[in-house]
Amino acid sequence: MKATRWFCFGSILLFFVPVWAQRGPYGSSPGMQAGRYGNTSVDSLPTQPLDTREKDSLLSLREEEKLARDVYLKLYEKWRVPVFDRIANSEQRHMDMIRSLLDRYGLADPVRESAVGVFKEDRYASLFQELVRKGVSSYKEALTVGATIEDRDIHDLNGAMEITDNADLKTVYGRLRSGSYNHIRAFSGQLKAQGAAYEAQYMRPEELRSILSDAPPGSPGMGRRGRVGSRAL
Ligand code: MN
Ligand code: MN
Repeated sequence: MKATRWFCFGSILLFFVPVWAQRGPYGSSPGMQAGRYGNTSVDSLPTQPLDTREKDSLLSLREEEKLARDVYLKLYEKWRVPVFDRIANSEQRHMDMIRSLLDRYGLADPVRESAVGVFKEDRYASLFQELVRKGVSSYKEALTVGATIEDRDIHDLNGAMEITDNADLKTVYGRLRSGSYNHIRAFSGQLKAQGAAYEAQYMRPEELRSILSDAPPGSPGMGRRGRVGSRAL
């Protein structure tokens, strides 16, 4: 009895010691955020210098995730269908993940105003207007708008991943992209239920086909590759 208890205590210690060790000489807080990123702590990865393109894509992606969040919030307001609410929450987490990278590199956050529909770059403000206008016109259009946002996001994340050699950026972008895979599957599934289908506008049609045929775990008989289908909402 006693021995078992000590054994358990010892195992717990062994489990936690490497986590402390990873925090480096300054100990404390950064490692605490690890959970936000899932398995690998982005904070444990080294920072590497950012070139202009890497900076630009990081700043754009912060607003692009906000665009997604804001449009879904408006579409939820209009249609009251849980898919928009659920995915808006996920986009908030994506915004937070990019924000952590901006902080990490000491970059000024382009999102100074969290209010819905407010953007630093005009192109996002006009995209917001256009997508909301479309999305409130019919429920089917709303789902198409959702799929279009994810399509564009995946396309831009692919581009951002190609131009960076920073492990931390790549890791975060990969997680955002897994989230987008799940989102586009959700919107496309709802569209299917409405008798419609989404066609790729930004990514290659075969990429979309492969994402859609790769159902997340928990959908028996449909998933082929668990990795891409991970529930990274
Ligand atoms: Mn996202
Ligand atoms: Mn998304």
